[in-house]
Amino acid sequence: MRRRKFLKGSAAMIGGFPFLHLDGLKLLGGGFPMEEEVFTFEVGQIRCTVFRDLMFKYQAKDYFINASPEELEPSLRRYHVTPDNIPSPFIAVLLQLGDKKILIDTGMGFSEKPLVFRGNPYVIKGRLHHLLHQEKIKGEDITDVIITHFHPDHIGGLFTEQGKLNFPNARFHTHEDEWAYWHSSLSGNQPALFRYFIEKNITPLKNLNLNLLRGDFADVLPGITAVKAEGHTPGQIAINIHSGKNHLLYISDAFLHPLHMERLDWQTNYDLDHQKARQSRVKLLELAHRDDMLINAFHFSFPGLGRIDKSGSGWVWGYTGK
Ligand SMILES: [Zn+2]
Repeated sequence: MRRRKFLKGSAAMIGGFPFLHLDGLKLLGGGFPMEEEVFTFEVGQIRCTVFRDLMFKYQAKDYFINASPEELEPSLRRYHVTPDNIPSPFIAVLLQLGDKKILIDTGMGFSEKPLVFRGNPYVIKGRLHHLLHQEKIKGEDITDVIITHFHPDHIGGLFTEQGKLNFPNARFHTHEDEWAYWHSSLSGNQPALFRYFIEKNITPLKNLNLNLLRGDFADVLPGITAVKAEGHTPGQIAINIHSGKNHLLYISDAFLHPLHMERLDWQTNYDLDHQKARQSRVKLLELAHRDDMLINAFHFSFPGLGRIDKSGSGWVWGYTGK
């Protein structure tokens, strides 16, 4: 009864956005309360589960470095956030199809002791592994791990605090351009903490079952294609998950906030190359629109699902189910 009410309620809310619909998105979980940590739905034959690893708080001065306060403040109000408090989850997504269990990104990781780095303590208590366990998924069950880029919030869960691989049977997929950048002198000026995460979680993969993807569109597995989306980092990928006519586009950090879809000229401090980041945003928006894709965004309000539509010469985002 409660479930029926929810579905009815969300359908009514979605009705307010003519471009939003639930085709291909069968809701299996509950609603979207703030505390929700696991959300499951289906894309065609693929069962998708979004896990909330952590919550983080970003600031407008980093997210929107060139937005004027007069334009930014009313925009942020529409999303019920303030310039000094933009809450953002870190997520990971599990795809289950046949005998495959594919994890996209791995969260921040977990350590009992705070990580002390240059005198600053970092408390890392990511919940991904706890939540996988809760869903009866063991690390050994994961057949594939797709790593969209090498920032700490996406790679921290690959190894334990003691350096043991969390997914011992997996094949690891990432783009060769991301690998090359972070293993060259080009990344020498990156924060030491980022480099620490990479040395601990990424570099050891070279002796394991590593698959480096190449080019603009690369098939990873049947129904799963990596789409190069550089700019945030040099080798970031988005993931196009397709089953029948249904598509899910995991956009990773190509967009950190829905306002980056609505305002392609607003830049973030977290992108290495603003021009390429903008080109990748346009590419992903056109792709999602052409194939009417459901979108999953890493840093948007959990579980980060929604759709985009054209509005005049620009784009509008609408959360699905909200
Ligand atoms: Zn991120």
